[in-house]
Amino acid sequence: MIARLLMHYTAGSSEWWSRLGMNYPIPAIFGLVSVFVLGCCWGSFLNVCIWRMPRGESVVFAPSHCTSCGAEIRWFDNLPLVSYLVLRGRCRHCHAPYSCRYFIVELITGILFVAAFAKIGMAEMPPAALLTAFAVIMLALPTVWIDFEHRIIPDALTLPALLFALVVSVVFPDVCAAATHLQGLLAALLPALIVGGGLWCFAVTGRRLAGREVLGLGDVKFMAAIAALYGLPGAFFVLGAGSLGGVVYGLVMAARRKRSPHRIALPLGPFLALAALIWLWVGDWLLAAYLRHIGIAF
Ligand SMILES: [Zn+2]
Repeated sequence: MIARLLMHYTAGSSEWWSRLGMNYPIPAIFGLVSVFVLGCCWGSFLNVCIWRMPRGESVVFAPSHCTSCGAEIRWFDNLPLVSYLVLRGRCRHCHAPYSCRYFIVELITGILFVAAFAKIGMAEMPPAALLTAFAVIMLALPTVWIDFEHRIIPDALTLPALLFALVVSVVFPDVCAAATHLQGLLAALLPALIVGGGLWCFAVTGRRLAGREVLGLGDVKFMAAIAALYGLPGAFFVLGAGSLGGVVYGLVMAARRKRSPHRIALPLGPFLALAALIWLWVGDWLLAAYLRHIGIAF
């Protein structure tokens, strides 16, 4: 895999890699390592989001602190991956064990950033598509953890992602295959309104008819952000694949607990988030296959 990537980069087949000096092996390795480190640093921030957002704490202003003894965590104990390994997953002061989630989220974010970097380069997508890819990762990863544990998707995750998608599509309209800044805005805004508005109507009507929540508003806002980032085809895939994943998980849990599937409370967000990550790497391939299937050359 790595050899293939390097061969691709060294071939200099993409103007974007060449522009960045990526047609030589050492800069290519340096580029991949830099993106991995960048991903791990953002993963460290996502850990802060995962812990603080459901508790209503600021993710910006309060310094990092141990959740057991409250001691402030100094910068040299806060290095992604490294500090966890050096301190063997424990607080320097009270020696309370930290959750392995800290290490796992940093590592996964680093790996996904590198994989997104490679995908955008190999598919020869516009460089700004990397911003969209990073935004999806930053939205999806904390959603998996927070919604699974707390059954909420914080507005502090979905609304900045939605805003970011709109700004990127205006500044870099080629991300959504648009020619002008206005077309770029519409290419992100309209899918967000269609998907978000449609699901909001479904959630409100379903609640009235069923007398209980059938779709959380956090899921609605998450899907609006995904629609702005991916457009309609990606949003429909995420909704379909995520719902299917949720239903299968619900049936498995119902069978294991020997209870009716109707009595299993399911968080939909983690499955939507996983589907969003899948679309990042296979979306263009799926879309091309679908267009070929309905007879549109691609
Ligand atoms: Zn401590």
